[in-house]
Amino acid sequence: MNRQARIVLHLDMDAFFAAVEQREDPSLVGRPVIIGHRGRRGVVATCSYEARRFGVHSAMPSVTAEKLCPQGIWINGRHDLYRRVSREIFTLVADHLPCLERVSVDEAYGEMTGLVGSFAEAEALARDLQQAIHTTHRLGASIGIGGCRFVAKIASDLEKPRGLVVIPPEDFARRLGPLPVRRIGGIGPRLAERLARLGIETIEQLGRADPRLLRRELGLRTALFVEQRARGEDDRPVGISQQRKQISEERTYVDDLHGDRAICRELLARAEGVARQLRTGELLARTVVLKVRDGAYRTITRSKTLDEPTDLGPEIFAVARELWQQRTGFRGRGLRLLGVGASGLIPRIRVQPRLFADPRREQVRQAARASDAINRKFGAGTIVPGRLLDTDRPPAPEQGEEPTVERRMCTPRPEAKVQRTHRGEAPATHPPDL
Ligand SMILES: [Mg+2]
Repeated sequence: MNRQARIVLHLDMDAFFAAVEQREDPSLVGRPVIIGHRGRRGVVATCSYEARRFGVHSAMPSVTAEKLCPQGIWINGRHDLYRRVSREIFTLVADHLPCLERVSVDEAYGEMTGLVGSFAEAEALARDLQQAIHTTHRLGASIGIGGCRFVAKIASDLEKPRGLVVIPPEDFARRLGPLPVRRIGGIGPRLAERLARLGIETIEQLGRADPRLLRRELGLRTALFVEQRARGEDDRPVGISQQRKQISEERTYVDDLHGDRAICRELLARAEGVARQLRTGELLARTVVLKVRDGAYRTITRSKTLDEPTDLGPEIFAVARELWQQRTGFRGRGLRLLGVGASGLIPRIRVQPRLFADPRREQVRQAARASDAINRKFGAGTIVPGRLLDTDRPPAPEQGEEPTVERRMCTPRPEAKVQRTHRGEAPATHPPDL
């Protein structure tokens, strides 16, 4: 099986606090704004690009900044505001990149492996994302894309502001080789100094260094670490920010939904949607959640934890159906709302491939991924499980049965009496609450 190369994105807002201030007060646009406390003990939190031109930068003592840029406009940061804007921005980002790990108020990593098929596609998605942030929030973001975290991180910093730098593995040596070793996260001033004493100042020199020398001088652990980075390797996964706890899809019906058959059909459609989102985000779910609301507005949720985490529609459906049939006590009532969710999310990359992976499950996953790819290319709903097309066929399959996949080009998805809940076309997914 040929495994797709890994693609990781790093997004970093440009001069974030200062940019928010300039957005809120247009009189600050184009002027050297410095966020931080003045005075003997103060340091610069961040500053606008206009102030950077004077040599001011983050973490600089305020006294120095005042000398370099006497005309600087000082603002004592409004951190509640920045946090709120940050939350809005990363909610938007998570719509593009389900597997998102925030590392600070203005920075996040996104796992793009599986989400896009190539670095070119990754670049196109990143450009859309940058544009969306600019259009919606009038703020600039820089994005780096690489084969792993540290490359993406360096890349996002190369062409700030509004930079978009893509460094596929084959360009690593050419693009990053000439940079000082300090650019690598984890190589601090002390380690850089020790390397400098060995005559190693750039990433390229680090790559050419004799491993025996490195091991002797730095110790095995550190030597292995720097050798890995010099080869452009970093196997740290992109985690999910704690706050993203659930992926779900729900629908509200204009006319209450009646009958097991119709309900199971809807459950299957929601389960498939949730599974697709999981696969897109390279996630697996440990728990399936069912939410139902009857005509009298009684709402209940039920959940069940699986033996094995999954990203497969039929497996999620089987559990959702079981919850519906056995646990809700709502049978026989008409439903106003029906939702299927997945929680207990874990990045796929963290799940060790099992020694005896179930080949049948793997087959279902591959078929699902293939249809995901076609749907991405030709539009959602190009391929759907056959069962969803045929309203007369009993929708309840045997547990674990794989969906029959039918090709269906350019015909509308049958959606009798389904009204999407809020926000237009998109299914009602819950953005992460960051
Ligand atoms: Mg930043």
